[in-house]
Amino acid sequence: MVLLVKSGGPAALPEWQALFGEVLPDVTVKGWDDADVDPLSVRYVLVWEPTQGRIAQFPNLELVLSTAAGVDHILADTALPTHLDIIRMVTEETSTRMADFVTMASYALLREMPQLVSAQREGRWDEARLGGVAKETPVAILGLGELGSVAAARLAANGFPVLGWSRTQKSLPGVACHSGEAGLDRVLAQARIVVNLLPDTAQTKDLFGAALFAKLPRGASVINAGRGAQLDTAALLAALDSGQVGAAILDVFKVEPLPQDDPLWRHPHVIVTPHVASDASRKEKARQAALNIRAHQAGAAIVHRFDRARGY
Ligand code: NAP
Repeated sequence: MVLLVKSGGPAALPEWQALFGEVLPDVTVKGWDDADVDPLSVRYVLVWEPTQGRIAQFPNLELVLSTAAGVDHILADTALPTHLDIIRMVTEETSTRMADFVTMASYALLREMPQLVSAQREGRWDEARLGGVAKETPVAILGLGELGSVAAARLAANGFPVLGWSRTQKSLPGVACHSGEAGLDRVLAQARIVVNLLPDTAQTKDLFGAALFAKLPRGASVINAGRGAQLDTAALLAALDSGQVGAAILDVFKVEPLPQDDPLWRHPHVIVTPHVASDASRKEKARQAALNIRAHQAGAAIVHRFDRARGY
């Protein structure tokens, strides 16, 4: 029984083998491009951006485990068999680290850090830039799933008024929860900071565009920690230049790495981070993958299964 891993390249394979050796000793862990692997022996794959067409070469494959919470990088394989279960990688570490990032970014925007960093680069002593205070800075989180709900609770604990929006109505302590199109309008109208933690689906593609920005109070800020597909970059640049959006902290992009000539790199009111908002350690990932493989072997419920009908 073989588990093929495509994450971190050949250099990471010994670590994956040692980690899975502790939690799943009856499964042999091999590298993605290992020429000695019999395709019939592969039962599980743990992958980030699997090579186009490769997953379809394993007729006895039972589970596709993503190394990330999002599975867009797997669905990009147009030859992917549709009967296979795909499992998202969500661990306590993933939601904790995303809450850390969203809180850090919210404080950075509250205290006008993008503008202060620009002033530093120009050698400008911009002493009037004192920023605001958390209790007067409503933050709207779009997407109240595994990550959004934990980030919302953390922001509320830090004194930010928190609004949330999801497909189905939620009830979370300390969070003003909304759903539906009218709910989105209500949330946006009140937000000083809007955070994207939605999944990448047909409905969320380019949602962060001109229409959404126009519904925000003038000068509100944007955090994109979901997926690049959800942000219309040209619309964001126009909104930044008109002052409708005050600043943005962006972690994910349509093309990654962000191309060198992209204007976002050098925009004075934008902070770019290289898709580092949240990732669990290999140890956590191996532990979580093993739990699901064990559950699958025992015929028990698997957690964080990608729902093809919902699209996330
Ligand atoms: P999740 O558990 O699937 O939650 C998704 C949330 O979005 C749910 O609340 C869902 O509503 C809501 N939603 C989905 N479609 C919607 C729609 N059309 N309208 C309104 N709400 C909608 O996802 P997650 O694990 O929290 O992940 C969130 C995002 O973070 C994903 O895009 C993921 O790829 C990204 N991510 C980024 C990083 C990074 O480093 N930047 C790391 C990890 C994950 P319901 O509750 O009603 O279902």
